[in-house]
Amino acid sequence: MQVPAIDIICSDLESIWIPEIWIEVARHTGIQALSKTTRDIKNYDELMTFRIKTLKQHKLKLSDIQQIANSIKPLPGAVKMISWIRSVCPFFIVSDTFIEIVGPLAKKLGSPPLLCHTLETDEQGCITNYHLRSKNFKRKVVQAFQDLNFRVTVIGDSYNDLHMLKIADQGILFNPPKDIQNSSPGLGQTFSYKELKATLESTASTIQ
Ligand SMILES: [Mg+2]
Repeated sequence: MQVPAIDIICSDLESIWIPEIWIEVARHTGIQALSKTTRDIKNYDELMTFRIKTLKQHKLKLSDIQQIANSIKPLPGAVKMISWIRSVCPFFIVSDTFIEIVGPLAKKLGSPPLLCHTLETDEQGCITNYHLRSKNFKRKVVQAFQDLNFRVTVIGDSYNDLHMLKIADQGILFNPPKDIQNSSPGLGQTFSYKELKATLESTASTIQ
């Protein structure tokens, strides 16, 4: 007998539920170069290599970034929205961030399951490298759930979300930058939690 597919939701983290961490780092440190994000640079390796080099130049340590990250608050309404989603179906945050930086922030969101990467530091606590859980991580997470007969809805906003959004059973952009809006006509577009909730309610079979 065919097991019926169950809905599951995978979502990006930054600009969906919390502000962009590196923009906050740039604001707190005054280092404008650190304000670039996956919304600006398509190649993630290029972006992370640039960030690590910039942190080294300014002698910033992981603990400095953690301190700033710990001061970040969820976006208004995020905690309530995540709580609602988790009350109706399994929910995972799938992020190209690093557990060392976002661990405490996830607690402020009610500790949803968080799948992300790790950082490497030297003896002085400076970030020297980063380790992706795997290449094409976000797409592979969605693919793995689909292989297990889950029907996956994906919520994202950036270039690094496009692969997982496009293979999802349902891909929903949340407040994306203009060029992503224009280049992704096949994806649903939402600009508030109210719109996001209405879209999820109207399309996901197990969500009431
Ligand atoms: Mg994002």
